[in-house]
Amino acid sequence: MSVSAGVLRTLHRLHCQLAEQQERLQRGPLQIKAAQANVARLQEAFTATREKATAARVAADQKQLQLKTGETKILDLRTKLNTCNTNREYQALLEQIAADEMANSVLEDEILEALDKIEQLQVSVGEAEQGVEKSKAELTKVEQQINSTADSLKSDIERIRQELANAEQQLPSDFRPEYDRMVKAKGAESMAEVENDCCSGCHQQITPNLLNKLLMSQVVCCTSCARLLYLPEADR
Ligand SMILES: [Zn+2]
Repeated sequence: MSVSAGVLRTLHRLHCQLAEQQERLQRGPLQIKAAQANVARLQEAFTATREKATAARVAADQKQLQLKTGETKILDLRTKLNTCNTNREYQALLEQIAADEMANSVLEDEILEALDKIEQLQVSVGEAEQGVEKSKAELTKVEQQINSTADSLKSDIERIRQELANAEQQLPSDFRPEYDRMVKAKGAESMAEVENDCCSGCHQQITPNLLNKLLMSQVVCCTSCARLLYLPEADR
């Protein structure tokens, strides 16, 4: 059973092309998945930031309400000053008013601080929202790109398969079952060119005996990695 280096060289080239295009086709959905995961992650971050901003707003509103109640209470106390019967009562009210005013002033500071925080959070919310929009645009771009190349990849793969089938016709029929088994198991990795008297798949030195067999177009497999060997073009 003899097989020409030229046929094996062509078959190996086609198997390599097939593997490359199949890998590119398979990579597409993974790239889309990664872009989708990115959108989901940023969407989650955006929701969390927005919830934080809402909570801060609610807290600030509560403090403002508390301040208003405090201010009304002080007004009431001031009205009561006019109806005091004793100096002691009057002094006690003044002290109460001073204490409440102090509490309100602390509250006012807290409200200013809370408003500052809300402002910062609103900036963060805006940024997070922009991040989501940007990642969505990126996802659309990736999807369009992948979908538009998928069709040409599929027709490429179909063409290579056809070329492979044609080239395989040139293999001797008694070698065909072994060849089929090898390519089914290892695809493009089932063959290797001889480079400087070595297997280019595993770099094992080829014995002179095997080189002679190759020169006589006999079927030779690497004794180390079992790849089907063929001589390079220059040696033909
Ligand atoms: Zn090898």
